[in-house]
Amino acid sequence: MKLKFYGTRGSIPICDAGFQQFGGNTTCLQITFTDTNRIAIIDAGTGLRNLGRDLKAMGHQQDQIVIGFTHFHWDHIQGFPFFAPAYDPRQKITLLSLGRDQTVGNLREIFAVQLQAEYFPVQLDRMGAQFEFLQIADASKYFSGVDQVPTLVTALRHNHPGGAYSFRIERGGKVLVICTDVEHGAQLDERVVELARGADLLVHEAQYTAEELQQRRGWGHSSFDQAMEVAERAGVKRLAITHHDPDHDDEFLLHIEKLCQRRFPRTVLAREGMELAIPETT
Ligand SMILES: [Zn+2]
Ligand SMILES: [Zn+2]
Repeated sequence: MKLKFYGTRGSIPICDAGFQQFGGNTTCLQITFTDTNRIAIIDAGTGLRNLGRDLKAMGHQQDQIVIGFTHFHWDHIQGFPFFAPAYDPRQKITLLSLGRDQTVGNLREIFAVQLQAEYFPVQLDRMGAQFEFLQIADASKYFSGVDQVPTLVTALRHNHPGGAYSFRIERGGKVLVICTDVEHGAQLDERVVELARGADLLVHEAQYTAEELQQRRGWGHSSFDQAMEVAERAGVKRLAITHHDPDHDDEFLLHIEKLCQRRFPRTVLAREGMELAIPETT
């Protein structure tokens, strides 16, 4: 597997000078299954626009593209109207939410509303691609629609306003865990630690410093310390921290990254465009 960050920013895209190194687009991750060269996408933040553009530029052909969602806050869906493959009538796109206790009643409606005439010139049913909207409660089965290689996905609903899901993706004996938009509370959420257990790569959000988190209880996010604590407790091999706060500029994040690496050396703060191989190639 291979993971590419197309969006690393939390809450709102940002384009100011001083934010270019870590990037301004909101959450969008591309997983490439290197054994088949097929991709899957997690979240459709504004980074999805560049992802779609890259697919076209590379001439990547894939009859069905799956976009899995952690949840549907703006910063995780805002790129969808600008995803070029969504306008290709030959393209099948599956929008997928996984996990038990889903509170979203109608997945299609979320995107139909996002694209209603008051907000956007092209409505969902006129975009062109063949859309499928899938809500699967039991994610503990093979990632449907990706390909024929056994790929086990476990989804965990964690604490976030309105709920959000972490994913553990296992394929060919390698483990990728993605955990964003999570608020642990006073103690770590033990279920998140278990989900991350032994991962080759853990992607965990940290929107705040520990001090900032004190002021932002209930906003649904973690601190850098908590991300590292999950990595330590779960015995993960590598940690990538993402969902950077729109007030945290490059200088600040570079400083934080150094501090994090002192405590958990295999930490990197995700940059837009960064690609990480799973397992790491040397
Ligand atoms: Zn978010
Ligand atoms: Zn959120």
